[in-house]
Amino acid sequence: MKTEKVDVAVIGGGPAGLAAASSAKNSGAENVVLIERGEVLGGILNQCIHDGFGTKIFGEALTGPEYAQIYIDKLEDAGVETLMETMVLDLTPDRELTICSEGGIRKLEASSVVLAMGCRERTRGAIRIPGTRPAGVFTAGVVQDYMNMRNILVGRKAVILGSGDIGLIMARRLSLEGVKVECVAEILPYPSGIARNIVQCLDDFDIPLYLSTTVVDIHGTDHVEGITLASVGPRGGIVPGSKRFVECDTLLLSVGLIAENELSRKAGVEMNPVTGGPIVDDQFQTSIPGFFCGGNCLQVHDLVDYASLESEKAGASATAYANEGRLPEQPITVQPGEGVRYVVPNTLSGAEAVDFSLRVGKPDEDKYVVFKRGDQVVRRMRQLSMEPSAMIRIRVRADRFNKGAGPLTVEVAD
Ligand SMILES: Cc1cc2nc3c(=O)[nH]c(=O)nc-3n(C[C@H](O)[C@H](O)[C@H](O)COP(=O)(O)OP(=O)(O)OC[C@H]3O[C@@H](n4cnc5c(N)ncnc54)[C@H](O)[C@@H]3O)c2cc1C
Repeated sequence: MKTEKVDVAVIGGGPAGLAAASSAKNSGAENVVLIERGEVLGGILNQCIHDGFGTKIFGEALTGPEYAQIYIDKLEDAGVETLMETMVLDLTPDRELTICSEGGIRKLEASSVVLAMGCRERTRGAIRIPGTRPAGVFTAGVVQDYMNMRNILVGRKAVILGSGDIGLIMARRLSLEGVKVECVAEILPYPSGIARNIVQCLDDFDIPLYLSTTVVDIHGTDHVEGITLASVGPRGGIVPGSKRFVECDTLLLSVGLIAENELSRKAGVEMNPVTGGPIVDDQFQTSIPGFFCGGNCLQVHDLVDYASLESEKAGASATAYANEGRLPEQPITVQPGEGVRYVVPNTLSGAEAVDFSLRVGKPDEDKYVVFKRGDQVVRRMRQLSMEPSAMIRIRVRADRFNKGAGPLTVEVAD
């Protein structure tokens, strides 16, 4: 089989892939190819008909399709080649892609690759809810696809497990379509979604949120007839006597996302066990030179704007690698310290400003995010409130990295 050569291959046509591909082309790569398995570009944004996209970049709350269209137009203006309804089946460490479409199987050899495959949802099997296996149990994203793309209503009385953003948004969407949302149950003692969505999607519709609560049984033979909720104690056990039956015909699961990194793993890219995405440097290059990553397959984003911004950088870096064959050395290691679950990127050159993304381990108020090298403070930034659900973004100027020596630690402190 003949192998076709390209400069930059971008896998995935969601917001991350769109931003990366246009940026790669505009940065001087001659031959950029974007490969998308779906029929249309835009990824998950196509089913997100609510507004709230683009507040950081455009200063207005666009719908998902409106936001995606801006980047589709940029892609067309840049002259990027798109391969639609084409799935990347295999990826080797020397950047050979096996792709499959209606026309059959082809091979591409890329000078650099951008991984932008997004995420998929965790299902009932992943969290092992006991009970019968009736119809009426869905992930929130599937219900969003049914309602917004196919005009199908899945039930009349729903319970939502998980207070992640997609679950909250679906609580509002179902209510607007006349479905009674009995409650949202959340196993953690605090919400998993951002505060804006708690107010706009639950409070405004009088939908109760039960924290430290989970579903311990599903009832019904052919179709869901109800579920059993129970309170969860501080050590994760069920609180005796707390079980209660809730009648419903639909259970929606919004219980987390899994980064789509099967291809990345196959190629041998090193993963961060906390994010489920690749370890990257300040150019968004992974552990294998010539492989770059951005968007939800790097880290789950609550705001699409940041997925686009980091992917623009990944695309420009992919072009620099394709044209020059190497990128700046990365002598400084970045590590999460006290109170920080993860931080991106994981190494940096110290020669340019870096926009760090991080998440804290637990909710807190009036603390500082502190960047340190040894005992030298590189940057301190006050946070009036911190939630694990809200990604924190902090820019550190290049000259600040000169302070101190050794790894850069990012921690929460008083
Ligand atoms: C329900 C929901 C509500 C949200 N609400 C908001 C909001 O209000 N405001 C906001 O700013 N953000 C919101 N977000 C977040 C935002 O939508 C995401 O951060 C963003 O879509 C991530 O973009 P992505 O390109 O990484 O992934 P995706 O949009 O998932 O795109 C990945 C693409 O890769 C393709 N792909 C995967 N594997 C392959 C392969 N092997 N071959 C070819 N193609 C492949 C997929 O088909 C898909 O099109 C929401 C997200 C969800 C799920």
